[in-house]
Amino acid sequence: MTRTRLTRYGIFLLLLLAAGVAIHQARSVIKQNNREVACESVDPDCEQFIHWDLGMVNLEKLKIQPNDMLGNLLSNRGVDYLKIDELIRAAKSIFPLKSIQAGKELTIISDPVDSTVQAFVYEPDAYRQILYHLDDSIRVEIVEKETTIKIESAGGIIEQSLWLSMEEQNLPIDLIAAMEDALGWSVDFYHIQKGDQYKVVYERKYVEGQAYGIGKLIGASYTSGDTEFHAIRFNSGKHDGYFDLEGRPMKKAFLKSPVQYSRISSRFSNKRFHPVLKTYKGHFGTDYAAPCGTPIRAVADGRITIASYTNNNGYYVKMKHDKTYETQYLHMSKFGPGIKAGVMVKQGQTIGYIGQTGLATGCHVCFRFWKNGRQVDHLREKMPPPEAMEPLQLPEYFELRTKIKAMLDGIDIHSDQMLSKDDCNMYHS
Ligand SMILES: [Zn+2]
Repeated sequence: MTRTRLTRYGIFLLLLLAAGVAIHQARSVIKQNNREVACESVDPDCEQFIHWDLGMVNLEKLKIQPNDMLGNLLSNRGVDYLKIDELIRAAKSIFPLKSIQAGKELTIISDPVDSTVQAFVYEPDAYRQILYHLDDSIRVEIVEKETTIKIESAGGIIEQSLWLSMEEQNLPIDLIAAMEDALGWSVDFYHIQKGDQYKVVYERKYVEGQAYGIGKLIGASYTSGDTEFHAIRFNSGKHDGYFDLEGRPMKKAFLKSPVQYSRISSRFSNKRFHPVLKTYKGHFGTDYAAPCGTPIRAVADGRITIASYTNNNGYYVKMKHDKTYETQYLHMSKFGPGIKAGVMVKQGQTIGYIGQTGLATGCHVCFRFWKNGRQVDHLREKMPPPEAMEPLQLPEYFELRTKIKAMLDGIDIHSDQMLSKDDCNMYHS
């Protein structure tokens, strides 16, 4: 068999798979001269089969069992060991045979007359096919499948959890992480209120008409009681991320210190002499000294997770800002108005007052900055605030924002829906 012919088998198979021909029966024989017949059964993409110029082939689809040795599968079908060995070497740098996983399917292509195995195909994921050619030319190729992206939208009213609401609607669960990314500075997704509403417009990836993962989250809104947040994705050049309706980055910068007009009386260190305990001990915070009673402010928007008292911390507050950052404020004389666990607070809001409760020698707040569950020195953290948009970019942003907001506003939160083509063109023109 010639190389051209071989290539055609490859192409044939691709077309076959690309058109979504699920070979449900274990074996099927397709003839070149039966194009129309095949097309009828294969439709809807008959066009793709115009270039058939093939002999007959056998297609065998099998599920790889945990203990299957690929070499045995092939040798049982008459492929000699020299060829298998050559294939192993040819595949090594492209897609090694040992990377083929049990539980997935292989399609073996063979000659229907003498059963010679001509090639086999493995699909490691939805996006790729690996073609192992076993005819006179032994080679391996990776074929990327065409991915199409559609703009879709969804929304819901939360009864129990965001996760459940999305699951009920069969929405891709990746959307939760994407929403957290977009709105996590304003909404605490771990403590959602019953009756909260969410809406999202996002890219969905399709391969051969089948939906797979999501692409970008384009816009999102979240309503809790009277408060509504919008996040619109935009690349300002300096910040590729989410902006609010006025064009301000959703991700907020932290205030440098939790107390205005204060001085740092002790810095973060892994080892320092503790004035009360009279021992060397790490100091995992920064002390800001100011007269007792001076307001302590939240360094960023977030949710109060703890407002409590312990012997060491005295009266203290801990806040969660997003999935990465938390802050903690110790030795308060008392809490700010309305401050208790579960309350959302704004950056700059008074959450307590300087005191010397707990293990403290003078009036100060011990400010602790947590990153991914670890205490770090916030003065050494590189956290460049996302830069605001240039005023010149605002008209462009507002135009996009208005469109996306209209898309979000148009979402019926009682059922998911697909947007019209016009909406899609906005992104893919
Ligand atoms: Zn301290």
